[in-house]
Amino acid sequence: PSLARGATAPFEAVSWNDIGGLWSVKQRLKQAVEWPLRHADAFRRLALSPPRGILLHGPPGCCKTTLVRAAASASGATLICLSGTQLYSMYVGQGEALLRDSFKRARLVAPSILFLDEVDSIVGKRSSHERGADLSARLLTSLLSEMDGLERAEGILVMGATNRPQALDAALTRPGRFDLTLYVPPPDEQGRLQALRIHSRTIPLAPDVDLSYIATCTGCFTGAELAAVCREAALAALREDVIQASEVHHCHFLKALHTVQPQLSASDLAKF
Ligand code: ATP
Repeated sequence: PSLARGATAPFEAVSWNDIGGLWSVKQRLKQAVEWPLRHADAFRRLALSPPRGILLHGPPGCCKTTLVRAAASASGATLICLSGTQLYSMYVGQGEALLRDSFKRARLVAPSILFLDEVDSIVGKRSSHERGADLSARLLTSLLSEMDGLERAEGILVMGATNRPQALDAALTRPGRFDLTLYVPPPDEQGRLQALRIHSRTIPLAPDVDLSYIATCTGCFTGAELAAVCREAALAALREDVIQASEVHHCHFLKALHTVQPQLSASDLAKF
């Protein structure tokens, strides 16, 4: 599949196997993204209408962007990415033009996924100044009209990600727009073990490394933080012996746990 950010930089493809845990989210996405894009004929025969838009929400660093990339790779769709912050920070008119252009491109290269990261910053910004409120309103109107315009288009899916679903305008979650909303939680213990295995697969691990143990003591860690634990463990080995270090030991992972701390507590996470 071809993967593109905005107009240019290509992404590295990722697969479902690069994502630890999140079994039910992955399953729902396979059905909602992969099946309709890969088996459009079967959906037509059975008069099934796949979702037009899927919204992923959850704490930062929990794999929302990576899930979208995996869904695009698995379904052979071209991925077009737009960041809400980028659109919001553009000059008046430019953000809407980029939005329109991206939908046009999504139609041209279908099957495609148009990914709006930080969608809340396009349409949820509580701006104290007039220009901000006006810009938000204009971007929201453009987005809604583009999404409504997709009704007749086939093979195009809009995916959005946000850490603040409550900030989104209710119009966005009406049927035909983001009609499927999935919560992407931090990984559970099994998921953390998988994520640790994924992020340490290129690191030479000594036989004493017990990733299951590390998974038990990383309760509130996000996937991004677990990736940082693996990186920090390798750095700890390097710091110990920069000339000869060739393996990472369990003690290096324990050191890494002192350096990398979870940003969100259990009570913060419960609010998502
Ligand atoms: P944000 O809300 O800050 O944009 P996000 O939810 O989109 O974050 P990603 O950008 O997908 O998170 O993930 C950040 C990093 O963490 C990636 O390198 C990804 O591989 C890793 N990661 C997050 N969750 C997992 C997981 N469950 N398994 C493996 N890696 C993970």
